[in-house]
Amino acid sequence: MTSYPNLLSPLDLGHVTLPNRVIMGSMHTGLEETKDWARVAEFYVARARGGAGLMVTGGMAPNREGGVFPGAAGLFTDEDIANHATVTDAVHDAGGRIAMQILHAGRYAYGPECVAPSPIKSPISPFTPTELDEAGIEKQIADIVTAAARARQAGYDGVEIMGSEGYFINQFLVTHTNKRTDRWGGPYENRMRLPVEVVRRVRDAVGDDFIVIYRLSMIDLLPEGSTFDEVVQLARAVEAAGADIINTGIGWHEARVPTIVTSVPRAGFAWVTKKLMGKVGVPVVTSNRINTPEVAEELLADGCADLISMARPFLADADFVAKAEAGRAETIAPCIACNQACLDHTFSGKISTCLVNPQACHETELVITPTQQAKRIGIVGAGPAGLSAAMTAAQRGHDVTLFDREPRIGGQLNMARAIPGKEEFDGLVDWYQTMLADHGVTLRLGQAVEPGGLVDFDEVVVATGVLPRDPGIPGQDRPNVLSYVDVLKNRAPVGRRVAIVGAGGIGFDVAEFLVHEGDSPTENLAEWKAEWGVGDPADARGGLAPEGPQPAPPARQVTLLQRKAERPGKRLGKTTGWIHRLSLRMKQVEMLSGVTYHGIDEEGLHITLGEDAAEGRCLQVDTIVLCAGQLSDRRLAEALEARGTAPHVIGGADVAAELDAKRAIDQGTRLAATL
Ligand code: FAD
Ligand code: NAP
Ligand code: SF4
Repeated sequence: MTSYPNLLSPLDLGHVTLPNRVIMGSMHTGLEETKDWARVAEFYVARARGGAGLMVTGGMAPNREGGVFPGAAGLFTDEDIANHATVTDAVHDAGGRIAMQILHAGRYAYGPECVAPSPIKSPISPFTPTELDEAGIEKQIADIVTAAARARQAGYDGVEIMGSEGYFINQFLVTHTNKRTDRWGGPYENRMRLPVEVVRRVRDAVGDDFIVIYRLSMIDLLPEGSTFDEVVQLARAVEAAGADIINTGIGWHEARVPTIVTSVPRAGFAWVTKKLMGKVGVPVVTSNRINTPEVAEELLADGCADLISMARPFLADADFVAKAEAGRAETIAPCIACNQACLDHTFSGKISTCLVNPQACHETELVITPTQQAKRIGIVGAGPAGLSAAMTAAQRGHDVTLFDREPRIGGQLNMARAIPGKEEFDGLVDWYQTMLADHGVTLRLGQAVEPGGLVDFDEVVVATGVLPRDPGIPGQDRPNVLSYVDVLKNRAPVGRRVAIVGAGGIGFDVAEFLVHEGDSPTENLAEWKAEWGVGDPADARGGLAPEGPQPAPPARQVTLLQRKAERPGKRLGKTTGWIHRLSLRMKQVEMLSGVTYHGIDEEGLHITLGEDAAEGRCLQVDTIVLCAGQLSDRRLAEALEARGTAPHVIGGADVAAELDAKRAIDQGTRLAATL
């Protein structure tokens, strides 16, 4: 008997039966742009083998002007059809099903040729779109229809028409972006003409035995967004026009409410999809921050949706469904919703991968094979670098012993997991614990390793991490000056007024930790919605609460400082930095740049501001927390080298600058793949 009776039940769409209720949602990985179609195929084949009921590709442009960026992949030519066919053939051979997403970016297209219903620049693009005339609109519809017909020719099982997230089709629906007065603008019946025409003509072009999914923006999270009555009206109209599945889109890209990052509660928007259930006859899909089979099953059992879309979880683990089917959900590598290796890569023009799974999108390059010669491998440090190295080496058949001086595995992840909004790190540490046991790694915890303790190994890996950097501020030895380790690990008491020295990733996290009290809003959906001003789209346009964001008052008065003159938090994650900055602003955290630290005394922290250090200030605070960066802890590596042993050094012990768990895990995995 399975624990997931709903999730694993088939769904008969008439012309095709999906084997389960899991859709791998669309993700732009950058793979198609490499034009290495064997590599693209391998990515999807791995997920087809892993049991995804239906996969949706990354968004494919229907024409040049609709591409998200110049050169974005699409389906424009006969040659493109042949390339895509290599992917669909391979997926079908592996027993999978795949639909192609058609994505016209409209005013979100990052190029001067972009087009839209009205010439209104978006806040996330430097280009003002050209307003389409009647012929221009007809051309865009025709191009979308042609792309759908080509998708069928290329062997896809269906298409998903991207009608949400503020892209082209969505731009017609709301007055925020559609100021037209012709038959494509004005009253809602006119504004929804384009999506309905697109679906109707696509259905006519592809025939009945082809899946047509419409991704519908169910909550725009914009002041001039749709009402829920309009959402229902549109859903019914696209169903009548020929859509056979309706997928959920949440929020426009320009919305200032987080929708998928790790601080969003799990399944935090499934309630929106649930509102549509029973109002249309076709299956409805829910999505956003669903990352375990348990949560997915619960949503289906609660009637929130007929199908579950998960995208990033399939980067973290291609075998998500197969492992759930096998009753081994605890071995599913968890997507922690960090965006660090997927969306942050996409928005930096890099190929996506996954912090937790460096093989994602690198299936043909990072191949982990059984070893021909089993070795005894000693690894010191059970942070992410040591954990990934140990797991991978043991998976390959090596005899691995992993040491840490702490009583638990995880290294700095144990500090990360203490931050409100970073609870997903718990699951990551738990998963490593499971995998180490699964692969037979010998764990030696609570043992600070000296070089002499490592003589019985064929290979030694040093993953001893980092030490906090000493900023050398006069007076920092006072008892009210703490390091982030004192605060996050040792839970030293912190006063009501706090200055944080250093505004990097850790400084921001410590600030987040100190302004919160009690339950994390990430664990409490009602509180989280109030904090970000998310209301019911049935009560207010776009689903923005009329009273606006209502964050709980800050638990402490925090000042965050850095020496650089730039905006604090500028170097945080591309797709998450704005959330960290906004979140601290909502908690009234004062952020100062261009700071010079002069000293700490009984009065407080003395600083000057600005290049000419003209403005002097004393921050009268109870506690000062040092978050001034990190240095490699190479003490063990150097001692081993001095004894003539040449260890492999990975993670923070290797290079501390710009270290994060993504790099630590990638390096650990890649090293172990070669040992
Ligand atoms: P570490 O995690 O530091 O692990 C080193 C381990 O070695 C430790 O467990 C230590 O006890 C052990 N050790 C050292 N010397 C010895 C010895 N002689 N004998 C035995 N054991 C020894 N990164 C991200 O990517 N995303 C985030 O969101 C994120 N958030 C963070 C939040 C906070 C608050 C902190 C502190 C860090 C965060 N990081 C984040 C950074 C990330 O945790 C580190 O980059 C990563 O843990 C470094 O991995 P590592 O394995 O090299 O070292
Ligand atoms: P960091 O990001 O390098 O920030 C260090 C901070 O300390 C900077 O603000 C720096 O700014 C300041 N600083 C450096 N030298 C100083 C000195 N001598 N005196 C005073 N201030 C000094 O490092 P971190 O915050 O320690 O984080 C460590 C790593 O963990 C980072 O690489 C980070 O990416 C990773 N991390 C990631 C996340 C995430 O969410 N992705 C979260 C936490 C940590 P000034 O020099 O301008 O003062
Ligand atoms: Fe999930 Fe982070 Fe991996 Fe992206 S990089 S798939 S968000 S764990």
